[in-house]
Amino acid sequence: LQNVDDEQFDYSMDELASLTKTANGEVILMTSQKRTKYHSALYIGTGKAEELLAAIEELEPDVIIFNNELTPSQIRNLTSMLGKRVIDRTQLILDIFALRAKSKEGKLQVELAQLQYLLPRLVGQGTELSRLGGGIGTRGPGETKLESDRRHIRKRIDDIKQQLNVIVEHRKRYRERRKRNEMFHISLVGYTNAGKSTLFNRLTKSDTFEQDLLFATLDPTTRKFMLSSGMTTLLTDTVGFIQDLPTSLVAAFRSTLEEATEADFILHVVDASHENYRSHEETVKHLLNDLDVKNIPMLTVYNKMDKVHPDFVPEPSTTHLEMSALNEGDLQKLRTRIEEECKQYMEYYEVSIP
Ligand code: GDP
Repeated sequence: LQNVDDEQFDYSMDELASLTKTANGEVILMTSQKRTKYHSALYIGTGKAEELLAAIEELEPDVIIFNNELTPSQIRNLTSMLGKRVIDRTQLILDIFALRAKSKEGKLQVELAQLQYLLPRLVGQGTELSRLGGGIGTRGPGETKLESDRRHIRKRIDDIKQQLNVIVEHRKRYRERRKRNEMFHISLVGYTNAGKSTLFNRLTKSDTFEQDLLFATLDPTTRKFMLSSGMTTLLTDTVGFIQDLPTSLVAAFRSTLEEATEADFILHVVDASHENYRSHEETVKHLLNDLDVKNIPMLTVYNKMDKVHPDFVPEPSTTHLEMSALNEGDLQKLRTRIEEECKQYMEYYEVSIP
């Protein structure tokens, strides 16, 4: 990694370890190297690669994961030198997304991102051609096979895009219908693992997947949510954010995040027990700004106050609530806050909500 300070570096490596765990992997060795310039063929220096090779012989891992996006040729060179499967951070995240996607749309989006990632990397992978790269001397039966693979992938990409268009249209119509019903619509957003699914479940008393894993939630889920006054609102859980989310994935999940942009009210859930809570909060705000939701009222929910980090201080300029999703009294406070917001909304727009 270049241009990052030690703290950021450690954090990013820890996050890589959590991601690995989420992908059902077990981390047996973490190692890093400081360089001002990466090695063009191997990413790491040759000395470091030798050291890694010795560790691999001793520990026999199944896969080596790099925290950076590697070029196709770096992956090839590392694979052949280390004799093990080599993947990068993007591939790891894609793998997790593939594991977690549940709806048809989620699955299609993940497949699309995987194929888009694969296509430029499909340079005769696993064949003798790989050593030579493209160009003179590489044409022949292998290349023809490669071309047909590429055509096949491009066709699949087009198919998926078409299917996704249909789904996105459907959802748009569904949203419009919901709007006509004039239900107050609340979206839960936040960094992955902040406690969105937990809050969603406690508030709507449902039991969607709730786990101490990154990206437990991939598909937006919307449920009716009854306030104590008997007023019905809609609550949507959205995909969790993360730092350095590969751009191809941000694009893939944009349509699900658009649910948040249609909300009347946003609950931004922050894990106050995490040492990097501030940077998580900033990452999410940044992404929300990109989605242009500035005009939607937002309440920052500092969650997990039951095990709050000793250095925690709420962001003074934000409207916020400190709570624990595990505490029934706190949940009631949150419901009351939502109810107040809902009333203000009704008065402002002079609408009646069923
Ligand atoms: P999401 O990724 O934002 O949907 O996060 P989850 O709802 O899956 O929660 C991640 C983990 O944090 C789960 O193990 C929850 O049980 C736990 N969790 C959620 N809220 C709280 C809280 O207020 N206090 C504590 N101690 N743990 C919580």
